[in-house]
Amino acid sequence: QIDVKNKFEGIWRLSKLAVSVDKDPGKDFIAVSEPLLQEVSKVLEFPVASMLPPEAFTVIRKSFDARKSQKEPKFVYTVDMDVQKLLDLEPRTWEFISELETRVGVIEHLPNNICSNDLINLVNNFKIRETIVGTEGLQINFGSSTSQPSTRRPSVAVVGSGPAGLFASLVLAEFGADVTLLERGQAVEQRGRDIGALVVRRLLQMESNFCFGEGGAGTWSDGKLVTRIGRNSASVISILETLVHFGAPKSILIDGKPHLGTDRLIPLLRNFRHYLEELGVTVRFGTRVDDLLVEDSTVVGVKVSDSKDAGCSNNQKWRYDAIVLAVGHSARDTYNMLLSHGVDLVQKDFAVGLRIEHPQELINSIQYSALASEVMNGRGKVPVADYKVAEYINLKEDQEVSSLVSENRSCYSFCMCPGGQVVLTSTNPSELCINGMSFSRRSSRWANSALVATVSFKDFDALGFNGPLAGVEFQRLFERKAAEMGGGNFVVPVQRVTDFLENKMSGASLPASSYRLGVQAANLHELFPTNVTQALQQSISSFDKELPGFISDAALLHGVETRTSSPVQISRRPDTYESTSVKGLYPVGEGAGYAGGIVSAAVDGMHAGFALARSLGLYKGNL
Ligand code: FAD
Repeated sequence: QIDVKNKFEGIWRLSKLAVSVDKDPGKDFIAVSEPLLQEVSKVLEFPVASMLPPEAFTVIRKSFDARKSQKEPKFVYTVDMDVQKLLDLEPRTWEFISELETRVGVIEHLPNNICSNDLINLVNNFKIRETIVGTEGLQINFGSSTSQPSTRRPSVAVVGSGPAGLFASLVLAEFGADVTLLERGQAVEQRGRDIGALVVRRLLQMESNFCFGEGGAGTWSDGKLVTRIGRNSASVISILETLVHFGAPKSILIDGKPHLGTDRLIPLLRNFRHYLEELGVTVRFGTRVDDLLVEDSTVVGVKVSDSKDAGCSNNQKWRYDAIVLAVGHSARDTYNMLLSHGVDLVQKDFAVGLRIEHPQELINSIQYSALASEVMNGRGKVPVADYKVAEYINLKEDQEVSSLVSENRSCYSFCMCPGGQVVLTSTNPSELCINGMSFSRRSSRWANSALVATVSFKDFDALGFNGPLAGVEFQRLFERKAAEMGGGNFVVPVQRVTDFLENKMSGASLPASSYRLGVQAANLHELFPTNVTQALQQSISSFDKELPGFISDAALLHGVETRTSSPVQISRRPDTYESTSVKGLYPVGEGAGYAGGIVSAAVDGMHAGFALARSLGLYKGNL
């Protein structure tokens, strides 16, 4: 006799449940639908789907699968089944689930508490007291101020308010540290006006732009929350849940390719800031850290400048017990400052290339064929189509390559923005580099993506760049060249992809571009070293085999994409996150070379926050 209740209590995870597009309610629907219950009933071999109680099921993941290997595009679900609830609500299911264990491949029996650790607990026990979600689901109001303990708390300066700095500040403040968040750029409200002036009047504010300011490089971005560091890890779940606390839609916890968009990121960041302030964090915008105060190989504070109306005069010296450095990888002046103190920095491989832009309709039809009409500028049932392509290129097989440079390169699409636009990410008017952003609906007429090739010390060396900042000099060279090729004023050099493959200038009638500051026909072969250009050419040809139509007269290549990831790593100890060369300094996030992307930078900042809280005696648990 089986004690069904005992044997089958807990959560069973059912995966690979496919629902066809015509039956599915669409990409924005994340509850348990009738057609999904029919799929569940097939797996359970339960004859009457309508008898299955929806309350016993929770959608954990929903993805759209349009791979060519599939007979037809479909939505694919992962669903958790609460066996106890199911048996309570529909006892007749027990004989069907009693055989589940024998049906492997689709079903996984989860331990009762899948991701219980301190990170999750921290998020679940946030000091948020009152959460009111407004009509647009984006406003959070907080309760009364936190009472401050009277004893002296350890003081920490967090430099940089990108994802890494924000999450480090959050963890440290939650543990009771006296945190000051120093940001050279402006709060999102002013930053929005500065970016508007850039896009409309060509006025580049050196300290408040697409890279610098509240939320860091990820604010005026596509807001993709995909990461390669393990979607189901407790750390990633904590980050996503925190973003939901601050106003992100709950669908990011379920969507196979979660995405926010700039319009959602801005109010979310404002909520994040208000919450930090509620916790007692002092947030100072327009405050650039120019130098470290170092005594006996220990950082004891920072020297700051008022980068714009921050209420502090230049060269003020502020003392702290520890400094978290979360400056991103566009802060080239900060790298130079670190070198002057003998902080250990090492070169890091990264990737450079061009940004390709197609009409979004073309990408929709390449990916979805007849189903492309369901996209309807982001308002339809299926998501606006994206792509991800990669190819390993060995140039030696085809041509003579100097032994000084890399023969093998990975070429890949990067930071693909469906329904987005190409934007200027320069932080200096003499340099030109670009990236992509989008709004939540992804409704623009264009699809853009970086197409990049890996570069390493061999490439830097071949151009005479040595030392820890060789990669930075390598980036800067091509950013300056791109600015010259565009003719100045942030005009971007472009070439039709068909002409790039044939190494000829494009005529005057270019395809339209989403880039707002103007484009200028140029031969992009004159930009990079020949071997990088050849690798890009070859990879585009093979991407066209995977995505027939990718090579098109309507596709325009834009130069130059250089800031794909950090060209530098700031060495730190793996257990404490402290710099290997200077005590009291905690390099984190993308600029330190330990992350790439919004979520991984946030995770790194959060882990560093825990490590530092432990060093300061504020946290006794394990990391
Ligand atoms: P950052 O976000 O770069 O933040 C560093 C902060 O430090 C900045 O605000 C800067 O102003 C500040 N700072 C620098 N120096 C100093 C100083 N000396 N004193 C005080 N403050 C300083 N990633 C994704 O995962 N998904 C995307 O869709 C995506 N789209 C992107 C689109 C664009 C246009 C760009 C530019 C990037 C995009 N990225 C995207 C990458 C992502 O933004 C970064 O990986 C991420 O923001 C890195 O986080 P971070 O906290 O390490 O650094």
